[in-house]
Amino acid sequence: MLRSLFLAAAGSARLERLVESVPVSKGIVQRFVAGGGADEVLRVTRELADDGLAVSLDHLGDDTRTVEQAVAARDEYVAILAGLHGAGLTPAAEVSVKLSALGQRIDEKLAYEHARAICAAAAEAGTTVTLDAEDHSTTDATLETLMELRRDFPSTGAVLQAYLRRTEGDCRELATAGSRVRLCKGAYAEPESVAFQSALDVDKSFVRCLNILMSGEGYPMVATHDPRLIAIAEDRARWFDRSTGEYEFQLLYGVRSEEQGRLAAGGNTVRIYLPYGDQWYGYLMRRLADRPANMGFVARAVASR
Ligand code: FAD
Repeated sequence: MLRSLFLAAAGSARLERLVESVPVSKGIVQRFVAGGGADEVLRVTRELADDGLAVSLDHLGDDTRTVEQAVAARDEYVAILAGLHGAGLTPAAEVSVKLSALGQRIDEKLAYEHARAICAAAAEAGTTVTLDAEDHSTTDATLETLMELRRDFPSTGAVLQAYLRRTEGDCRELATAGSRVRLCKGAYAEPESVAFQSALDVDKSFVRCLNILMSGEGYPMVATHDPRLIAIAEDRARWFDRSTGEYEFQLLYGVRSEEQGRLAAGGNTVRIYLPYGDQWYGYLMRRLADRPANMGFVARAVASR
């Protein structure tokens, strides 16, 4: 119930303006977002790297409605990749990109061209790009773009969402040599016709997908904070004889930091998804939907003012 409310709120422009106008929002956002600009995100990336963690940077913003915004998003990624390279933070840091931020809803070809420019900049910086998964209406177009990008940039990563009924099939198609696939539960409000609705069904699907990816030939990127699924992933890695360099765990910045350290101390590659930029509203609402108990954190931040 609360999850649906937060996901509905994520799409409300009026609520966005209201929340962004409340000064305390900035304090809350700091828990999940590295900061507004390149300097801040490079500093946090350095801190994480010093702790032995890999990073995937996400410049916040989705559902771009004008060509100018899409061009600005592309340019930001190209600039941050140069910044990461200049700071010696590649290849440990890569970038995560939402095609909707690059203009997918305006013109798929335009989003592809922008993604291509980012992949080229990443290759020059000695690192990679992962295409984030968004709501199910974009899945086909995103996977088609991925396939096109992989012709010239074969290490471009995919994201598959276990809550979608189609995902087991997508895992089979993508569990091939050289393929990098992030598996997550999925963060959008989706109808029953396309997505499992109960947490148990989503978890079961996650495990089925994990089995396919771990037994396949690609590079699985296990993106969850769920202790049970992390334990199952560790078990499957052992079962399918994968050494720690043959898969990785991914967690969100600000979520279960102790677990991030525990996994890294165990010799695992652990990549932190690190969002930055001013357009944090939709991202924050999705994190509250993941865990409505975080409202307690919000309430404490408000009370402490
Ligand atoms: P949950 O069942 O939500 O959580 C399990 C446990 O983790 C909770 O009990 C709690 O202890 C902890 N936890 C989870 N979330 C939080 C939180 N916000 N604050 C504090 N504790 C928390 N979704 C997409 O749709 N597309 C993407 O491209 C995408 N990329 C992602 C990349 C990464 C690296 C990660 C980790 C997630 C990504 N997601 C993406 C989000 C994902 O789909 C889930 O919404 C999110 O990860 C919560 O699911 P969970 O697997 O952690 O399990």
